[in-house]
Amino acid sequence: MRLVLDWDGTVTVADSMDLIVREFGDADLVDRYSDAFIDDSKPLSVTLQHVIETELATIKTPLDEVVAWLLEKVELRSGFLDLVERERPLLLSSNLRQLIEPVLEHYGVEAELIANELVADDSSGWRIQIDGEICPVCGERCKRQKLPAEEIIYVGNGYSDRCPALASSRIFARCGLARYLDSVGAAYEPFGDFHQIAAALGRVA
Ligand SMILES: [Zn+2]
Repeated sequence: MRLVLDWDGTVTVADSMDLIVREFGDADLVDRYSDAFIDDSKPLSVTLQHVIETELATIKTPLDEVVAWLLEKVELRSGFLDLVERERPLLLSSNLRQLIEPVLEHYGVEAELIANELVADDSSGWRIQIDGEICPVCGERCKRQKLPAEEIIYVGNGYSDRCPALASSRIFARCGLARYLDSVGAAYEPFGDFHQIAAALGRVA
């Protein structure tokens, strides 16, 4: 059994990609595509890859400035630091490695991370690299394709978690992911913080 955690809105209290696009890029795109505004049961009308590429292309600020701002704003969900030491989870994110690693370092967290890559942060707008195979289930380069080949306990909250959650043997879900799983009749355990997950996993919270 491998514990796999989504990052934005799951480990972080607020979606950190939404935060930086609102601050440094086009906030209207966040209003159009963020998990809070999309239909809980339907696929997006465009690919998630298109959303991420389009949102980040509106940021023309150097990475180090964005990271410095993000470190001031980001808040981690209660119980994460204890859980990560005990369970050594895999962090699996559609966000950028370069926006997650500095937060982990800031909090002294060592964890395996799979995320996308920022390849340019110049004044023409951020450009990113999304690797991976096209998923036969959802038709995207989704996080299901990046899951380890073992039984998975998945923890998530949003759109990008739909496909990998359905490939997992146990799901902890909140917010949009929980509403989506309700709509397809899939079983999950709701959670508010990582103390609850630790307790549910049968260990002392
Ligand atoms: Zn998929």
